[in-house]
Amino acid sequence: MRKFLPTFHKIPNNATTIDLRNLAEQNLVEEEELGIFAQAQSVLNWHISHQHCACCGAKTHAVFVG
Ligand SMILES: [Zn+2]
Repeated sequence: MRKFLPTFHKIPNNATTIDLRNLAEQNLVEEEELGIFAQAQSVLNWHISHQHCACCGAKTHAVFVG
């Protein structure tokens, strides 16, 4: 099985962060795109909170972007 290898880009020094709620409230992206951002945040949160397999304790890896 091929593993997804993420590409990380350098974040510009002048970059700022914004949470999804403010992103939506400030109409910074199209409404149809909010679900994509929410799904991406959900996957990232899952990977942050589930770094080991619940069955065997092995380290988990993102596969096929999920
Ligand atoms: Zn396991």
